[in-house]
Amino acid sequence: MLCDRFNRVISYLRISVTDRCNFRCVYCMPAHGIELTPRDEVLSFEEIARIVRVGSTLGLTKVRLTGGEPTVRRDLPQLVAMLRATPGIAEIAMTTNAARLDELAQPLKDAGLNRVNISLDTLQSERAARLSRRDTLTKVLCGIDAAIAAGLTPLKFNAVVMRGQNDDELCDLLAFAHEKGGEMRFIEYMPMGTVGFDERDRLVTTVQMREALSQRFDLVPAQSLDPHDASRAWVCRRSGARAGFISSMSDHFCETCNRMRLTAQGGLRPCLHQDAEVDVRTLLRADGDDAAIAKAFLEAAGLKWAGHHMSDFIPLYSLKEMVSIGG
Ligand code: SAM
Ligand code: SF4
Repeated sequence: MLCDRFNRVISYLRISVTDRCNFRCVYCMPAHGIELTPRDEVLSFEEIARIVRVGSTLGLTKVRLTGGEPTVRRDLPQLVAMLRATPGIAEIAMTTNAARLDELAQPLKDAGLNRVNISLDTLQSERAARLSRRDTLTKVLCGIDAAIAAGLTPLKFNAVVMRGQNDDELCDLLAFAHEKGGEMRFIEYMPMGTVGFDERDRLVTTVQMREALSQRFDLVPAQSLDPHDASRAWVCRRSGARAGFISSMSDHFCETCNRMRLTAQGGLRPCLHQDAEVDVRTLLRADGDDAAIAKAFLEAAGLKWAGHHMSDFIPLYSLKEMVSIGG
């Protein structure tokens, strides 16, 4: 079993399959992009599948593909099929901007992907273009419909809420997600890396978000289906619309964390915000056996800290941008 120093059991691995992306979201990447990892330094599908197989013997049951944008990695359904064949892995999910789901939703479902979380910060085209620095909304909306048609459900939508950018759209986003049969999750903006978008007053707290939503929705706390979920669930008494709040800044969820991350370069990272990694790629490429990989998992679990203190806005946190860690 994979257990950290604070008796938290790790059963969930978030896997960054690439640090490349077809968007340039203002909160995630600098405008000029990031320095990309050379392809031969990125884990192969075989290497990822092997790490997951060893992880599953230690109790991993759930994986999520992320990035960068996971759908820009060529032949992604092949990786999903390999992970689906791994004993013990009950759930395979993916976080995506949805722009490529039009063509990929069905092949990914056929390969064994269970669900997707889709990033959706706005329903206004010009805003979407400004926030993602690409003309994206039409493709994203097609991708959402493709995900529903393929049965990659229940859908969850993620919006990073930023003051003066999209905080006047929360009601519309929740209504849209409900209409699509999904849950809308509102994420507090986190200052990360060198994106240059980290002024303190960007943050809209979940308390402020719920106040804005109360104009149209009668929200009450709801039972979360997963006790480890970073998102706290609320439901509208009148319509049944479900909203989730990810309060990374104002009220973090570190004490119930059950996750670890694998970066595209093969670093096992105990926490998104902790600049500590155990290098598994070097191990694998030096013919390390499964016991050595298992030891790397245990070492990474041993490094996991009690929790982050981002709400203090200490500037040294998260030296890397979200896109290069794997969000
Ligand atoms: N490209 C995919 C996507 O956008 O869904 C997956 C990777 S992205 C880094 C994963 C999640 O991180 C997205 O939901 C995104 O909105 C969120 N994210 C990125 N930067 C963030 C920040 N500075 N604060 C809060 N959430 C952020
Ligand atoms: Fe790309 Fe996702 Fe980051 Fe946007 S949030 S730049 S889509 S990785």
